[in-house]
Amino acid sequence: MKKRVAIYGSTGSIGTQALEVIKEQSDIFQLEVLTAHSNADLLIAQAKEFKPNIVVISDETKYQKVNEALSPLHIKVYAGEKSLVEIAGSDTYDVLLAAIVGFAGLSSTMAAIENGKTVALANKETLVVAGDLVTSMVAQKGAKLLPVDSEHSAIFQCLLGEQNNQIEKVILTASGGPFLGKKTNFLINVKKDHALQHPNWSMGEKITIDSASLMNKGLEMIEAKWLFGLRNEQIEVIVHPQSIVHSMVQFVDGSLKAQMGLPDMKLPIQYALAYPGRVPNTHKRVEFKNYPSLTFEVADFKTFRNLALAKEAMIKGGNMPCVLNAANEIVVEAFLKNKMGFLEMSDVIEACLEKISFIAKPSLHDYMECNTESRNLATSLIKK
Ligand code: NDP
Ligand code: MG
Repeated sequence: MKKRVAIYGSTGSIGTQALEVIKEQSDIFQLEVLTAHSNADLLIAQAKEFKPNIVVISDETKYQKVNEALSPLHIKVYAGEKSLVEIAGSDTYDVLLAAIVGFAGLSSTMAAIENGKTVALANKETLVVAGDLVTSMVAQKGAKLLPVDSEHSAIFQCLLGEQNNQIEKVILTASGGPFLGKKTNFLINVKKDHALQHPNWSMGEKITIDSASLMNKGLEMIEAKWLFGLRNEQIEVIVHPQSIVHSMVQFVDGSLKAQMGLPDMKLPIQYALAYPGRVPNTHKRVEFKNYPSLTFEVADFKTFRNLALAKEAMIKGGNMPCVLNAANEIVVEAFLKNKMGFLEMSDVIEACLEKISFIAKPSLHDYMECNTESRNLATSLIKK
């Protein structure tokens, strides 16, 4: 029996790479569901090629176009966020790849978990916003959460066979992004085009800006906390510019395990979709002659304030990571539209963390409200 896969966010960077994986591994995977937000043309092309049973376009204004193109192929077409949630809550698939970007991915990911399904999680914002609720629902519903983020996939792989052994700490590696080694006097003038040039990874725009500002690593600290049940002080970040060591786990005897590979998301995507098996593929391999030295250096929390702010939000806990995430989504969008400077992004996030009231144990409703409040506040602060 082939594994039936739903790809949420199929038109994005992770989504399109997941389709490459499925194409190569068509003897084990069967594509059942594809979803996109508004890129109707690419969604239609993907559906024509892969012939899923169901396609969802969340932007309802694009429904007619997609439906006209795909109904002759007997593909069921739905529109709107409600459909994303309903299908995630159905039995039409075995594993759902959560590759929608940002807070927008939360509701469908939670619906899949509530449904007791296996979720291959790329959408880290889900765990940043509501990690406590998500992980307790995973346990309660018997769902499975498999990391796709390369660092977390590395940690997950390092932990295999170590169930009874204690972790001392995990070490998340960060490439350092395009501005590694730069200081505030340089960053103050940085523009979108430069920030979008990541040295090692090709990714969607939002996560690429997060990587340049190191917010991505901050979000990943929070993601790791929830995925692996860690205490804040067990999570460390180290800069590793070659992006070959994807992350490490240090056990109580001082032994360090690392997982390595080329910086290619197809590997962690395939691993999560095929788990627990490892499947042969034709992806490029690491050639150590091309990497004569693997280097490591401490992360600059002072210059890259987003990293410090994320750590602070993680330590405060409650609704603070949700505030951080929402404010960050707004400032990244504004930065991408050239409406604010690179360093100003941290000012707005910091103000949101200071101004929004702390809630120690938020409900899902609280998280929803807090997301809106933080977005509104961040938006108003940018306009000033
Ligand atoms: P992209 O921006 O490339 O793709 C995002 C996908 O989500 C697209 O299919 C997009 O549809 C869809 N989408 C956007 N907004 C909405 C919405 N409001 N409702 C429903 N669907 C929406 O992002 P990435 O692929 O780079 O990242 C996806 C997730 O994976 C993020 O959470 C990111 O942090 C995480 N991740 C990504 C990595 C990477 O290498 N790219 C690595 C590790 C984690 P449309 O195209 O129609 O707009
Ligand atoms: Mg990552």
